[in-house]
Amino acid sequence: KEANAAELERTFIAIKPDGVQRGLIAEIISRFERKGFKLVGIKLVVPNKEFAQKHYDDLKERPFFNGLCDFLSSGPVVAMVWEGEGVIKYGRKLIGATDPQKSEPGTIRGDLAVVVGRNIIHGSDGPETAKDEISLWFEPSELVSYSSNAEKWIY
Ligand code: ADP
Ligand code: MG
Repeated sequence: KEANAAELERTFIAIKPDGVQRGLIAEIISRFERKGFKLVGIKLVVPNKEFAQKHYDDLKERPFFNGLCDFLSSGPVVAMVWEGEGVIKYGRKLIGATDPQKSEPGTIRGDLAVVVGRNIIHGSDGPETAKDEISLWFEPSELVSYSSNAEKWIY
């Protein structure tokens, strides 16, 4: 089946400061890559607190909001956009439940994290948030459309 790049969905994935500090960048990227999803944007950034507050705007009434934003802005974050059929929903599946104590083994948080405040990775939770988060973190020119030979064996 021919995959039409224009139809493939995209999601925003970030390796949080704990994942970067613990040396888990390659491990996390490799799980998305091996699945067959395609990396179309990546950069290392230290978001400031105001930016973190924008990213987590829908959580601003939660008691952990301030600590969460301090944490996200505490060091380098790997910001990425991944593309592929079903990548938003399946990306969440690869990531696992928000609380690593409830994440299944085999998921990123299940295998690599222990507590909810240090759960190493973020992933958009739906098509609307994916769109918003991609445009918050990336300029359109930072996203690269390209075809790979693997595609004809994935789709
Ligand atoms: P997810 O990252 O799985 O989409 P949420 O959007 O609900 O989860 O929450 C965003 C982030 O806020 C979580 O990944 C986690 O880092 C943090 N968080 C969520 N719930 C708690 C909590 N009860 N205590 C501390 N931090 C939390
Ligand atoms: Mg969320």
